[in-house]
Amino acid sequence: MAQKRDYYEVLEVHINASEIEIKKAYRKMAFKYHPDQNSSDPKAEVKFKELSEAYGVLSDAQKRALYDQYGHDGLQQQMGGGFDFNGSGFGDIFGDLFGEVFGASGSRRRSSGRAGESLRYNLDIEFDEAVFGTQAKIKIPRYKSCDACDGSGVEAGSQPEVCPTCKGQGQVRFQQGFFSVSQACSTCRGEGSIIKNPCKQCAGSGRQREEKSLSVKIPAGVETGTRLKLLGEGGAGSKGGPPGDLYVVIQVKEHPFFQRRGNDIYCQMPTTIAQAALGADLEIETLEGKEKIAVSAGTQSGDLLYLKGKGVPHLNGYGRGDQIIELIVVTPKTLNARQRELFMELAQEDGDESIHEQKSFFSKVREMLD
Ligand SMILES: [Zn+2]
Ligand SMILES: [Zn+2]
Repeated sequence: MAQKRDYYEVLEVHINASEIEIKKAYRKMAFKYHPDQNSSDPKAEVKFKELSEAYGVLSDAQKRALYDQYGHDGLQQQMGGGFDFNGSGFGDIFGDLFGEVFGASGSRRRSSGRAGESLRYNLDIEFDEAVFGTQAKIKIPRYKSCDACDGSGVEAGSQPEVCPTCKGQGQVRFQQGFFSVSQACSTCRGEGSIIKNPCKQCAGSGRQREEKSLSVKIPAGVETGTRLKLLGEGGAGSKGGPPGDLYVVIQVKEHPFFQRRGNDIYCQMPTTIAQAALGADLEIETLEGKEKIAVSAGTQSGDLLYLKGKGVPHLNGYGRGDQIIELIVVTPKTLNARQRELFMELAQEDGDESIHEQKSFFSKVREMLD
């Protein structure tokens, strides 16, 4: 199955894009790829569907927040399985999530300063860590508020001055024909104030670089592409603006034995012909150590066995997937004399006359020379 593309990538918008920007991008691209406009291009329809799906999620604040946090699969799980808040240990994440969706975002935008940028951090984790969760230590280079001026950008002892051009409004109005147009003030760049005596440490920007160490809780059940959103852990805002967020994007390393299939894990187990034909109790590796499984008599190569509940915990906290074991019947590549004899007997029992007779190397050479 092809990896789904990132919705932000599909719409070609920034991860911080506003509702309006998302709508604009969608309109523009939907027009470009609309099947009516592209009847000769079969890819256009696929593109158009992809666009519509991306827009369906990103234009819905709740779905978008879920997508930001958990990626494609998390979204599907959350939307499909309903919400689960209890006992999952996600209280803090959901608290942030709903704080953002229902509350805090409005007041953020009214702030006069400039918002900090959102950051992305790609985190590689082991297969087991993805399954059971882990605490990851990460270091991110980012901007913090300047220590010397506390983010104001003004040298200690002086004050920012009210911008003389816009009188502190941040906007200037001018007449264009019949219309009165208002525009961000160019003197103060819309900030309403100017700094005559900028802070020496940050050159008036109000920010300085840092390398921040963070400990991030990775919940059980994440997979490649899962995005964890850490509210306010992005770059600091300047002059009172809100900080950006940090998105930790998960990349799970491959396991030598297990493969992830949604919440199930898949593996292969070789059996001998005798085990498959007669049945056997075999030992199999699970995520939590070895376990016995019964292979029944008459097993075919490709038959599947299931260990219920030995897969990956659901990201929303309840239940686990299964371990799926594909049995592979292995034909021996070499036989000793006794094994060969037994197989010959078996063939005779089956009435099979097609079996190759065993010939020594020398008898074959002699045949060729005759
Ligand atoms: Zn400063
Ligand atoms: Zn101004």
